[in-house]
Amino acid sequence: MPHSDDFLAVHDPAATRAVHAPDTGSGRWWGFAVALAVGLLLLCGLTWLVSFQRGLAALQQSTATRADRYAATLESTLDRYEFLPALVSLHPFVRGLLESPHDPARVAAANHYLAEVNRRAHASATYVIAANGIALAASNHGQPGSFVGTDYRFRPYFQIAAGGKMGRFYAIGITSDEPGYYIAQPVESGGKVIGVTVVKLNLEWFQRAGSGAEPLMVSDDHGVIFLSSVPAWQYRTLQPLPPALQAEMENTRQYHGRAVTPLPLEPLDSLVTRWLAQTTLGANARLVRVRDESPAARTTFTPDATARADRYLELGRTVGPADWTMQVMAPLEPVLANARNATVAAALAYACICLLLVNWRQRRQRARDMQYSRRLLEAAYDELERRVEARTADLMAINEKLEEQVAERTRAESELRAAQDELVQASKLAALGQMAAGITHELNQPLAALRTFSDNTRVLLERGQLAAAEGNLTAIADLTERMGKITGQLKLFAGKARPVRRPVVVRTALDHVLALLAPRLGAVTVSVAGLDEQPGLSVRADELKLEQVLLNLIGNALDAIASAAPAQGRIDIEVQADTGTNSGTVTLAVRDNGTGIAPEALPRLFEPFFTTKETGQGLGLGLAISSSIVREFGGQLSVANMPGGGAQFTLVLARAPASPSATEALPVSTPQ
Ligand code: ADP
Repeated sequence: MPHSDDFLAVHDPAATRAVHAPDTGSGRWWGFAVALAVGLLLLCGLTWLVSFQRGLAALQQSTATRADRYAATLESTLDRYEFLPALVSLHPFVRGLLESPHDPARVAAANHYLAEVNRRAHASATYVIAANGIALAASNHGQPGSFVGTDYRFRPYFQIAAGGKMGRFYAIGITSDEPGYYIAQPVESGGKVIGVTVVKLNLEWFQRAGSGAEPLMVSDDHGVIFLSSVPAWQYRTLQPLPPALQAEMENTRQYHGRAVTPLPLEPLDSLVTRWLAQTTLGANARLVRVRDESPAARTTFTPDATARADRYLELGRTVGPADWTMQVMAPLEPVLANARNATVAAALAYACICLLLVNWRQRRQRARDMQYSRRLLEAAYDELERRVEARTADLMAINEKLEEQVAERTRAESELRAAQDELVQASKLAALGQMAAGITHELNQPLAALRTFSDNTRVLLERGQLAAAEGNLTAIADLTERMGKITGQLKLFAGKARPVRRPVVVRTALDHVLALLAPRLGAVTVSVAGLDEQPGLSVRADELKLEQVLLNLIGNALDAIASAAPAQGRIDIEVQADTGTNSGTVTLAVRDNGTGIAPEALPRLFEPFFTTKETGQGLGLGLAISSSIVREFGGQLSVANMPGGGAQFTLVLARAPASPSATEALPVSTPQ
């Protein structure tokens, strides 16, 4: 099973080497966004410029048409009245009056005539001025504010006419206080100007000719606006007047005390307006701004006064014989508004296209991402499959190896078992050989003795020595008993009787053994420790066999003491139960201060027929049989030399539950 990290490992660049990550391109996105923004700006600017130019051209055309119409209207009016003073001057009544200015009849006739002419011509006033500048007769004679008797010497139109030329002048009447256009005609007689006939026209109807939204104004040759559809602009100048001209106007009382101040009109000057002037605007057209001077505009706080200014397309026309200029002011606001709207519409359309473009780009990017993810996934899947295959192959190889090893182990095991069996067989044979040799050795002597004794007995019987023969027979009986003992021991050794295990009270077994050995103890001191505290301590064993083991161990200890120092001989028996009362083990140590065991003898001690004792003293079967018995009980028998001399045999047996009768066991009797 692959480790979970292996799944992550598919991102290994080597694994995904074939898959190229799509360029997420934040830089490209930025570039794209900047390009869009620049495009938007260009489009807005261009749209505004084009639509403004077109609107301006259309406005110029329509305004020019209207301006032509207004100019024609004004000029035809002026033309109509141009010859009226000349006609009047030719009339006999006028000439008669000028010849006899003090004749009341001629004055009356002239007054009447002038009133009639004025009425029919729809003029403001018609009057006759004498060469001295005093009005002699007027159409408004006899009315309040009549011109008759007024001195007109200061008026330029009189001065020009008195000089023999036609005088034309626009001014505010000094008696009527009404503005008007004065046309003056010299009346000559005998090559001398004898008087002047004047017709005054009211032109104020003209300033109402234009629509209210499109200011119309007429300025004189000095640039003073004397007719304007915007009342605030009347009697303003298009440019500041030089002081000399101002003084002259004071003298001629042209505008009758009106303060003539410059109109805050200035041309719009920018790159765009210059370009428009070259491409779109005609010679008489320009773009101007008129600042709002109304009190409301002045009190409102505006950081830039021009911000509130009205912008116009100014179209000029020269009208009339007196070098007047007519200006039609077409507001630019509708054109600007149209340009704005077109720009906004273009911007919106552009934004829509941009959104579509961005959307399309995003979709393309997403598709690319998905394709990339899919390729990545496929690569990861391929890599995974490759790894799984590799792992599977590895596992299979390992499995095969394991199977081989198992087979080998099984083979080795069976070989081992066979070898073990052979070994057991061999050791059995060896043991059998040893045993046979031992038995042969052990039995040869008594057999030889038996032959000798039986030969002797026959001889003694032949001689009739019955007493000696009887002694020999007793010796023969002893020898056979000894041989029986040997074979009896062998039976015990070889016997694989059914193991019997029942609780055996240690103290009882020990007492029996010590009682049996009492004759041999002699001066040897025997101490038993660890049983007084728990007299009923029991082990799982067979009573007789346990006694046989103990008999053998203590007997060997006595032999060792006898070989060493019989006088200070001592045997210490120590019993220890390692855990609670009813389970665990019981350790029984038999320690002596005898000869101890030679190091070379230690490994062979439990072999059958191993003995260091002299022939006839020991068979070398005691420990072999004892260890066999202990194994049968499930216990252990071990040996060790003591540091201070002597040996210790340690017997470990399974503990058994204490039997109640144990406490009644015999006390240990230590032989004295
Ligand atoms: P045997 O007593 O017939 O020789 P055992 O099997 O009982 O046979 O003992 C084998 C040998 O172990 C003895 O010959 C002796 O050398 C040695 N041995 C046994 N017990 C002791 C002991 N307590 N001290 C010294 N040697 C011992």
